[in-house]
Amino acid sequence: MLNDCLFCNISKGQTATEILFENDTLVVFKDINPHAPVHLLIVPKKHIRSINDLMDDDQPILAEMIMIARDMAATVGVSQSGYKLLFNVEKGGGQVIFHLHLHLIGGWKK
Ligand code: AMP
Ligand code: ZN
Repeated sequence: MLNDCLFCNISKGQTATEILFENDTLVVFKDINPHAPVHLLIVPKKHIRSINDLMDDDQPILAEMIMIARDMAATVGVSQSGYKLLFNVEKGGGQVIFHLHLHLIGGWKK
């Protein structure tokens, strides 16, 4: 069943979005409107609205998101050149999709 959260639907494989990495906790896919040559989104399967809504029990999810971001940076070849990891938080922080996600942005030309 599709629900009204896009990233829930993507994480359940209910859209045509190409999933680059998946495990029990999260999925990784390319941002549809990239801000840099590399722009990936690391998205937990659990629906969490934003950083503000993280519970103490969610700490392992957050840790895994960052560790997988590290691994994906290596996979796409930006570990050494460098990259940004970014959470936009709520409307004033630029968040437009209200399902927690971590942006991995990099690959700029030297
Ligand atoms: P944020 O502003 O932090 O909420 O970021 C949401 C991001 O999701 C934006 O960078 C969008 O380009 C991206 N986005 C929106 N729809 C899709 C989609 N269907 N597939 C991949 N990325 C998307
Ligand atoms: Zn969701």
